[in-house]
Amino acid sequence: MSSSLRIAIIGQSNFAADVLELLLERSIFQIVGVFTIPDKGSREDVLASTAASHNIPVFKFASWRRKGMALPDVVAQYKSVGATLNVLPYCSQFIPIEVIDGASLGSICYHPSLLPRHRGASAISWTLIEGDEVAGFSIFWADDGLDTGPLLLQRQTNVEPTDTLDTIYKRFLYPEGVKAMGEAVDMVAQGTAPKIIQTEVSATYDPAMFKAENQLLDLQQSAERIWNFVRGLDSVPGAIATVLEDDGSEQQVRLFGAHIYSAGPVKGGQPLKLKGLAKPAWVHEGGLLIEGTDGAFVNVRRIKRGSKMINASDWFKQAEHQPITDFTDDELAKRTQLSGIWQAILKEPIEATTDFFAAGAGSMDVVRLVEEVKEAFDVPLENEHVFMAPVFEEFFDQLIRSLRQGSGDASAKQLNYEGFLLQANKREIRVPTQLFINGAFIDAEQQRTLDIINPTDEQVLCQVACASVNDVDKAVQAAHKAFFGAWKQVSPRQRGQLMLKLADLMEQHKEELATIESVDSGAVYTLALKTHIGMSIDAWRYFAGWCDKIQGNTIPVNPARPNNVLTFTRKEPIGVVGLITPWNYPLMMLSWKMAACIAAGNTCLIKPAQTCPLTALKFAELTVLAGFPPGVINVLPGKGSDAGQAVADHQLVRKLGFTGSTPIGKHIMKSCAASNLKKCSLELGGKSPLIIFADCDLDKAVKHGMSSVFFNKGENCIAAGRLFVEDRIHDEFVRRVLKDLRSMTIGDPLNRSTAHGPQNHKAHFDKLLEYCERGVAEGATLVYGGCRVPNLKGYFFMPTVFTNVEDDMFIAQEESFGPIMIISKFNGSDVDSVMERANRTEYGLASGVFTKDISKALSFADRIEAGTVFVNVYNKTDVAAPFGGFKQSGFGKDLGQEALNEYLKTKCVTIEY
Ligand code: NAP
Repeated sequence: MSSSLRIAIIGQSNFAADVLELLLERSIFQIVGVFTIPDKGSREDVLASTAASHNIPVFKFASWRRKGMALPDVVAQYKSVGATLNVLPYCSQFIPIEVIDGASLGSICYHPSLLPRHRGASAISWTLIEGDEVAGFSIFWADDGLDTGPLLLQRQTNVEPTDTLDTIYKRFLYPEGVKAMGEAVDMVAQGTAPKIIQTEVSATYDPAMFKAENQLLDLQQSAERIWNFVRGLDSVPGAIATVLEDDGSEQQVRLFGAHIYSAGPVKGGQPLKLKGLAKPAWVHEGGLLIEGTDGAFVNVRRIKRGSKMINASDWFKQAEHQPITDFTDDELAKRTQLSGIWQAILKEPIEATTDFFAAGAGSMDVVRLVEEVKEAFDVPLENEHVFMAPVFEEFFDQLIRSLRQGSGDASAKQLNYEGFLLQANKREIRVPTQLFINGAFIDAEQQRTLDIINPTDEQVLCQVACASVNDVDKAVQAAHKAFFGAWKQVSPRQRGQLMLKLADLMEQHKEELATIESVDSGAVYTLALKTHIGMSIDAWRYFAGWCDKIQGNTIPVNPARPNNVLTFTRKEPIGVVGLITPWNYPLMMLSWKMAACIAAGNTCLIKPAQTCPLTALKFAELTVLAGFPPGVINVLPGKGSDAGQAVADHQLVRKLGFTGSTPIGKHIMKSCAASNLKKCSLELGGKSPLIIFADCDLDKAVKHGMSSVFFNKGENCIAAGRLFVEDRIHDEFVRRVLKDLRSMTIGDPLNRSTAHGPQNHKAHFDKLLEYCERGVAEGATLVYGGCRVPNLKGYFFMPTVFTNVEDDMFIAQEESFGPIMIISKFNGSDVDSVMERANRTEYGLASGVFTKDISKALSFADRIEAGTVFVNVYNKTDVAAPFGGFKQSGFGKDLGQEALNEYLKTKCVTIEY
């Protein structure tokens, strides 16, 4: 190999810089000079800086020629380095023949096409536009023609259907091109470099695509040619189409992300007229659909309007966004300050149209910009805001918008909704009363509404929208679109951050939420604060932590020798999830289910109980402030018989999470099977046994026994539905319970000293009256309550105690879901039969035992058929512990890690190698 090669590199950009680095690795060559373009502002080309870092002389010429003649001074400077070979890796300048022939061994030049095809500056674009099946590059000996010199080497690759100008360059033309330049120089050094004369057969010289007139997309051609043209200019500069607006005006746009569309007709698209196209194109949820002259379709995913890139599916939504024009002096001063930050990063003068990324910024620059802007303007900002608004003027517009909002939150939106002003608990709280679909509050179809009754005074509190079957469909479509669109773009960790932000907002608004919950459901305020809202917040925080820890396994399966096999599982979200919840803990039931569902990566719609939807609607407002993309969470108050049923029946809902009564649970399971075999989990009713042995700590047993029944006025799914009290302590237990009940404060749930509020709604209240009448009729002893609280308006039901309850009585078998204690005696010598009696129910939600005998306690835990077992405690649930019933109390867990699995599906992948 000749070591006397003295190389001049003439070119620019990363490609040339990489070729330079490669040649420097071959220490036998001498790089005697690098010739490149002048600096742009204060930013020099990367080839110049790479050369300077290796102490190679750098020459920056604006031009090598004037009026077709080589500039003598420039040629003299070139000659001064004494090169024996010119290497032109990527050169945009016209190099005079005096220089091309100025090196004794000549000049070798990289060209990104298989010459003689696609001579000219836009070879890669034309490779795609012409639908070539192979792409490639050539290294040729430069002569005085345009890409006509003899060939030294060529390399080729198949053009893939997914290729665009960007992909083919990045995956092949660039990396293989750099390597091949190194090989070509080696061949020159070894004297083995061929000079193969180019034939003129099949030669083309193609127009330069940097001229705007050449970028116009001709729509009068086949779908395939339209597709090839768009991908040939993707991502720079983009094919130009013209939108014809309804008012007769025209708007030029650029199209990106094209593919042939063969999925059949689109549903729910909106027509968009394009100049040169006889039939309208269609904006649909997957993009913009254009019909070619052959009747086939091209779909375009992204559109650039002005400097802003949008999803084509958002075309009609984006039209509403008007830029700010009325800047104040202070805002204009901020503009100057912002421009200074941009300039310091980009090292070039900043104009309104400066694009952060086109100016060469990388990911570290994004981090720096975000940090500096946050510090300078005291405004929260995320990296994604830079990606959403990469052009200076847009970025400034976005900054001013968030500063004007004053919330300090760049993602916060001004929420418009119809609501009512709740004045309670020394507060004024705005509560939305419309359906929440696709990130906005809207009326129900035909303005249908439901009356919301305050159980404390039986008055109408407000009216809320009542979802119809069509409204449910609208929400499902929004959730479906979000699942396959915006939500997919949110990484698991970002998902967790959104959930944490939501939990923080719930915490900030917890007094408001607890007040609404208390007024709407009758829950005592302090309990609402601690449990209804407190445990809801805990659930969001707990499941937020799971988002980036959902992982599969690698599984050692048997390989088919001699091959090896890798098998692994992926845990994937299911899709659109429907949630249906009851009225006893409205926000907590929502949160238990939805936090797990969202953490797993699903989108959802919830139909809360028709009697108490208000906290769910306030919660919906907070999801917007937290920054959840539209469609991920939808809230639809409505009736179970139509809206709830529509959720269970919907073909696009793939999982249903239900909490409610056993009869409705059975009905729903049938609907899930009949519609589309959707997965379901059912948290249903209970009749939980609590056994109190004489050897217990009686004070504790009375305290917990009381709360096992009267907590949340008995509207508690795990409420102890039946107490078995050992005969030796039975009377004393009853005496103490009655004593405590007589001192229980009943009244306004917002009053801090109240222990017992009104029942949730009238139908339920009436059922409790009937339940007690039946107990009396069957011969049980009513020792306390069993009736309305005298002289009190509202659904106030007396805490009630029945004794002498026999196993076959209705009240021994069926759930009351109210503040009714059902007590049966047992003899301490017959532990087996009390266990057997405790299991003699079709329910299996929870259970409890009070005893100091650890063997008895553990034996109970072994034998009881219930999803939850409490020992010497009751109602001790936690968001980290799985919760859910056995038998006709349903299946599937809420809470804990197990709840995640309810909202995930497992995919098994096997690879042979
Ligand atoms: P429910 O009558 O079964 O109602 C529950 C939910 O289902 C409500 O949103 C209801 O809408 C809706 N619904 C009614 N019919 C429907 C249908 N055909 N299709 C779809 N949805 C329908 O129960 P509830 O009276 O609200 O709640 C009390 C029951 O829930 C009790 O049995 C209690 O034990 C149980 N619960 C269980 C748990 C648990 O974790 N296991 C927790 C809390 C409560 P409407 O509002 O229009 O009726």
